[in-house]
Amino acid sequence: MHLEAVEDEVRAAAMPGKAEVSVARYFEAFEAAVRVFGRGQVSTYLIAGLGDSLASLLDASERLIALGVYPFLVPLVPIPGTPGADRAPPSGDFMRALYEHIGPLLARAGLRSTDVKAGCARCGACSGLSGFEAEGRPAARPGPGAAWTPTSESSDDATLQLRACAEQGHVPRVPPLAPGHLLRRARAV
Ligand code: SF4
Repeated sequence: MHLEAVEDEVRAAAMPGKAEVSVARYFEAFEAAVRVFGRGQVSTYLIAGLGDSLASLLDASERLIALGVYPFLVPLVPIPGTPGADRAPPSGDFMRALYEHIGPLLARAGLRSTDVKAGCARCGACSGLSGFEAEGRPAARPGPGAAWTPTSESSDDATLQLRACAEQGHVPRVPPLAPGHLLRRARAV
């Protein structure tokens, strides 16, 4: 069950159909799903770059982790020829701020991607998050004056987050059926 975005205005603009189902209703469904499938076996996609603030994405991720749901945080990758082609992807700093805070929280909660049996969290190709699932103190939330910018004009930021992952000694799991651009990037870092 993919949330994609969490702020009401962002949801209404990016996905007016799905936005008719409230975030509260999604959370009720997550609770029910965890009762059926167990902690760590339910995940949801959260796309950074649709307009949600860093604070909103962190709040939603923390709430999901408390329920036993894996928040699969991914950067928006604008695709030429689609209605979102002109959107700016999130900056590498924005993604790093998310991963460095949420990764350790996942480890602390016992929600590791390696234990997930199926779905995007298991695959991991579209996110660098699994590379940050290490024991340790979660990075502090960046304050309002922090030096990161929410968006970047560089579409290479997805490459940067894969490289950050590789710097930590982790090679993202990239399955044979991953989108070609991700395969090429993962092989390059
Ligand atoms: S490539 Fe993997 S992580 Fe990305 S959408 Fe497909 S299953 Fe999910």
